[in-house]
Amino acid sequence: MRARKRRLLFGGALLLVALPAAALGLREAMTVPCRAVTGEIVCHGPREARRVALTFDDGPTARGVEALVPLLKERGVTATFFLEGKAVAERPELVRALVDVGHEIGNHSWSHGHMAGLGSADYLEELRRTDAALMAAGAPRPAYFRPPYGMKFVGLGHAVSANGQQMVTWDVEEPGAGAGAEAYVDAIMAQVRPGSIILVHPMFASRAVEREAVPILLDRLAAEGYAIGTVAQLLEGRE
Ligand SMILES: [Zn+2]
Repeated sequence: MRARKRRLLFGGALLLVALPAAALGLREAMTVPCRAVTGEIVCHGPREARRVALTFDDGPTARGVEALVPLLKERGVTATFFLEGKAVAERPELVRALVDVGHEIGNHSWSHGHMAGLGSADYLEELRRTDAALMAAGAPRPAYFRPPYGMKFVGLGHAVSANGQQMVTWDVEEPGAGAGAEAYVDAIMAQVRPGSIILVHPMFASRAVEREAVPILLDRLAAEGYAIGTVAQLLEGRE
């Protein structure tokens, strides 16, 4: 009896240690860009060639699109825009403006919620409604999905595969708020390697630093000999 009690106590203590550790591990796997809980995830391209993909998340907003389209065009750069279905349905002409000049469009969910604890039907609905809105706006069906907040829930990973798409995150993070444009670019360049996928949030009114940083970033990448393109160009090794 006493031995059994000791075993139970020991088991309980072990659980107290193991459960939070397991939960922490799972949380880390869900939020660290390069780790998948289920399914495959891409967070960078081939490391051999001096190429990077430039990815812009959220929106579209008129502010973001009108700032980026001319300056990318000026430098002959195409990029990947991960757009939210709901915002796309409200401003389809902004998608058209991106597609018409050769940018790639990815799926960034319909509602941009945290997507915690949804059923597989809800995850699929988030993906399919967004695909439909993008295609109605004139974009090809997206090959890539980027999870809002980088949260890669188990059911979401399954839904992305079931929807025939590839989950794409990033290996270059933005610095926290407060950096000026030059410091922002320094922080990005410190992480960039051949094959990197760079994440920038340029769409909202609060993101003036990001919009100011993009031309500086493009110049710095070019000066360091990087070819800049879309996720598809990076992964497929295309010009
Ligand atoms: Zn987002």
